Amino acid sequence: MLTDYHLHLRPDGNDADVAEYHTQANVERYRAVAEERGIAELGVSEHVYRFAQALGVWRHPFWETYAHDDLDEYCAFVREHTDLRLGLEADFVPGAEDRMANLLQERDFDYVVGSVHFLREGAVDMDDYSVWDSARSPEEVWRRYFDTIAEAARSGLFDIAAHPDLVKYWGPARPTHPSASRRTPEGDLRRYYEPAVEAIAEAGIAVEVSTAGLRKPAGEMYPSRAFLEMCVDAGVPVALSSDAHRPEDVGADYQHALELLDAVGVRELCVFEGRARRLVAIGASDTDRSAESNEAGAR
Ligand SMILES: [Zn+2]
Ligand SMILES: [Zn+2]
Repeated sequence: MLTDYHLHLRPDGNDADVAEYHTQANVERYRAVAEERGIAELGVSEHVYRFAQALGVWRHPFWETYAHDDLDEYCAFVREHTDLRLGLEADFVPGAEDRMANLLQERDFDYVVGSVHFLREGAVDMDDYSVWDSARSPEEVWRRYFDTIAEAARSGLFDIAAHPDLVKYWGPARPTHPSASRRTPEGDLRRYYEPAVEAIAEAGIAVEVSTAGLRKPAGEMYPSRAFLEMCVDAGVPVALSSDAHRPEDVGADYQHALELLDAVGVRELCVFEGRARRLVAIGASDTDRSAESNEAGAR
């Protein structure tokens, strides 16, 4: 059975209004594409910073620009009007763990996708507030990035480590950018991955395999094959997602993801309900319960 758990029902723009996108008709468009592509299990994970309640956690100017909607209305819409799993993409904000924990615990999510888009105030994957403007070197940014992923994993806030090497977003360089410079360290990158993979494994959370990177300047899946192999060696289970922000991207490029998963020996995917996890065989039909395996110690 295939999943797509990291879905947004609308584009990231500030003009994408819930009245237009958080509708049954829009969910049906996502379902239709999923059905065409053989994906049975869908979950929605809107960005936490689109909701007013997020400003009680962090007041970054980017969040202040976007935090308009009501988180409880979103949860009620998904529960009462859709058959989607209820998730949230929550940023890891160092120092705000208790406030984020409260926001998450007060609602009955099926799972929480934990992501790192910012290193302190600096954005990894946006021109606005870009961490790269003041970066001394790609080595420094990469080291800080994966250390933060490790901290996020150990925080206990999340079920899935989202796009865990998002720091490669821009690719090795940005020739079109005025301050074009190298944005990927040279040599074997596994030295950067190590602390993150170790923390993800010890925390017992899942790692996301996301096809979104194929649609970004990086031009490759999140995470890299080397990162994923390290996760598999450490016994970390996989959650499969597209990070679609529009119906046509549901399950985008899954053939590449499935080839990669097969090549590194991943045969099962995570399924979540009420923040409990089970594993289902990739080849199983969605009604084939015998394909489930019970994980010892799953959270
Ligand atoms: Zn993200
Ligand atoms: Zn996302």
